[in-house]
Amino acid sequence: MPLQEQNYWLTTTQFPSFDDSPPIPEIVDVAVIGAGFTGLSAARTLARRGAKVAVLEAETIGWGASSRNGGMVLTGMKLGVNQLISMYGRERTQRMYAASLVSIDCVEQIVREEAIDCEFIRCGHLEVACKQKHFDDYARQAEVIAREFNHTLRVVQKHQLHSEIGSSIYYGGMVDEVSAGANPARYVAGLARAAMKAGAQVCEHTRVEQIQRDSRQGEWGWNMSTNRGPLWAHEVFVGTSGYTGRATPALQKKLIPIGSFIITTEVLPEALAHELSPRNRMIYDSKNYLYYYRLTPDRRMLFGGRAAFFPETDQTIRRSAEILRRGMIEVYPQLSDTKIDYVWGGTLDFAFDIMPHAGQLDGLYYAVGYAGHGVAMATYQGQKIAELMAGDKPDNPFVDIPFPGAPFGLYNGNPWFLPFAGAWYKLLDWVS
Ligand SMILES: Cc1cc2nc3c(=O)[nH]c(=O)nc-3n(C[C@H](O)[C@H](O)[C@H](O)COP(=O)(O)OP(=O)(O)OC[C@H]3O[C@@H](n4cnc5c(N)ncnc54)[C@H](O)[C@@H]3O)c2cc1C
Repeated sequence: MPLQEQNYWLTTTQFPSFDDSPPIPEIVDVAVIGAGFTGLSAARTLARRGAKVAVLEAETIGWGASSRNGGMVLTGMKLGVNQLISMYGRERTQRMYAASLVSIDCVEQIVREEAIDCEFIRCGHLEVACKQKHFDDYARQAEVIAREFNHTLRVVQKHQLHSEIGSSIYYGGMVDEVSAGANPARYVAGLARAAMKAGAQVCEHTRVEQIQRDSRQGEWGWNMSTNRGPLWAHEVFVGTSGYTGRATPALQKKLIPIGSFIITTEVLPEALAHELSPRNRMIYDSKNYLYYYRLTPDRRMLFGGRAAFFPETDQTIRRSAEILRRGMIEVYPQLSDTKIDYVWGGTLDFAFDIMPHAGQLDGLYYAVGYAGHGVAMATYQGQKIAELMAGDKPDNPFVDIPFPGAPFGLYNGNPWFLPFAGAWYKLLDWVS
């Protein structure tokens, strides 16, 4: 099969179909912008609480990062625990870490309750060390995580690593058994069905263009213009992640969109697949410019990385396919003659402090900034912010932390600095 510029997960997934596209509602309690994990999880929770909810999606269900990712349902956050403790103190970091563990349960519970056939499996994740000093740090991290968060990570010495991965280039690894894997496109399609079953209306091909504070019959709310006409919402929840645009300029200025790319091989013989990943882990390495990889349920090697920092275009996708193939063969020389069937890209959202953020900005509710750890955290934040909107007081340690913008305000949403950021991260990988 020739290489296809196509998302492999989509070939395995049936999305809800809308034969006739009903008009968008005129008035709702909550308008959710974005039909990814964040928006659909929020819509499901709000609709189950009796709110009239419309999910406004510029493209189609799951079109953003939610159907394009590696399907790694990961514990922890992008930043290391020592850095988190120095930024937020012990108590808040403990709550953040606990939330990251609960977020995996949250996905599992939704998958069970809604009977979503997305091949969710608690297979654990493996982080592999690209340098000796990265490996030396694993023991220190595991000790802090055990002491501060009562969570066990298992450090794997280089000479034992063959039981975890069929590659000899790493200096050792660290396993977290709590993480999981899933087919993300099937998961987001199932989440959409669940939100609709609860009563939410999903409006595809509906791009929000402008949002203005407005009162209607004495009640304050939001007047929203879309390409399919106006809508008035009591409250708005923004779940647009790496695709956040001009409709929410204050949020756009706080997020950096970063491209990430994935290749997927042909189906591998069973023995080879077992040799590459004997425990079927979700795997990523210790670099800033990292590779992440896993077997798909039908035994393909799915291999991803930030091969180019720019968001996906035909050109960056094609260039990335070659860069990633070379990376994959460095890790797994066994795959040098294996065909690549699929390549695609998607856009991640990084906040300037590389942390998830949620709460209210200029009166609009939002949850963003997952930095490549969004499958579980986006689902969790969607649910938690929806509970807050419904009048609960859920514990959410990511609300109210400082949400920094660009240094000196040097950013209007156009990420001109990405080539410099890419070069900077490559340099960091070289020296650290
Ligand atoms: C290649 C890749 C690999 C990844 N791998 C992993 C992984 O293995 N594990 C992990 O945890 N995370 C991973 N991530 C990150 C994860 O996929 C995201 O954090 C998560 O999907 C974010 O979900 P979301 O619902 O917030 O945003 P998205 O799924 O990106 O959805 C945002 C939606 O908003 C819509 N939108 C934007 N503006 C408007 C508007 N004005 N009007 C209407 N709609 C609008 C977009 O069309 C889009 O569909 C990866 C991401 C990428 C790109």
